[in-house]
Amino acid sequence: MACSNCEAKPVIKLTAGPRLCKNCFIKYFEKKVIKTISKYRLLDKEDSVAVAVSSGKDSFALLYILNKIAEKNRNLDLKAIAIDEGIEGYRDLTLLEKYCKENNIELHVTSFKKEFGLSLDEAIKKLDVKPCSICGVFRRYLLNKKARELNVKKLATGHNLDDEAQSIMMNNIKGNLERSSRLGPITGTVKDKRFIPRIKPLFFMTEKETATYAHLRGFPIKFSECPNAYGLRRDIMDMLNELENKHPGTKQAVINSFLDILPILKEKYSDREIKICINCGEPSASEICKSCQILNKLKAVN
Ligand code: SF4
Ligand SMILES: [Zn+2]
Ligand SMILES: [Zn+2]
Repeated sequence: MACSNCEAKPVIKLTAGPRLCKNCFIKYFEKKVIKTISKYRLLDKEDSVAVAVSSGKDSFALLYILNKIAEKNRNLDLKAIAIDEGIEGYRDLTLLEKYCKENNIELHVTSFKKEFGLSLDEAIKKLDVKPCSICGVFRRYLLNKKARELNVKKLATGHNLDDEAQSIMMNNIKGNLERSSRLGPITGTVKDKRFIPRIKPLFFMTEKETATYAHLRGFPIKFSECPNAYGLRRDIMDMLNELENKHPGTKQAVINSFLDILPILKEKYSDREIKICINCGEPSASEICKSCQILNKLKAVN
């Protein structure tokens, strides 16, 4: 069977039905990302963006497309931020650093060790908590802080449709709709200059599409899985994958339903008060921000 657009050999079958060859798929992918950027106004005519990058497929796909836009549009200032959590055998930024150098992308690298005094591996030896609960808090904190220090207007992350569908389901299961109000292609219910708005240009691209795109573009990706990737998110990921296999379009339907109710959620949680952490001066929902709370617990077990 040939590509639905031309006579070439297909490389992927999309959920919606068509089979696409390499060239048609690359065009489809980039067009859809650009459509998301324009529909949700993720970029302004003059803008500055820091891309949160790891060495995975999502961040390479995102960095490549945004850099392509920046090369054509002199009014888009692009930088990249990478965070080394300190997970042995997993986080390796060598290929990413080489890629950024070759493509003249200004990359800023920092680490949990440098910023907090210990790596994630060291932290989880001290506290009996799920690694992702520390990793997520520290990562969000540092990305916001670094983006603000770089003086950019936005922080772009590589979250794809699968990631977002998982987060929506997770928040539903945990009964945490407030957290869902901060999801979507552009985040933020609270307008506060200390919070850098986050944009997600890959919001409508599935995991499979992003992996295929990254493979076809030949990005220098080192495939490895975080040894801490287990728990509720993993269970939800498996469940959604199983449902998607049996009922194609499930993940997209989760996203569509969510986008329908998102304006109501944003309205409901828009009056969240933002405080300043008395410890570190960063924006926080409580007197002491979550990062400092974790750091205090870590100090207490020294
Ligand atoms: S799976 Fe958890 S510990 Fe590993 S990188 Fe992701 S959030 Fe961090
Ligand atoms: Zn084709
Ligand atoms: Zn703090």
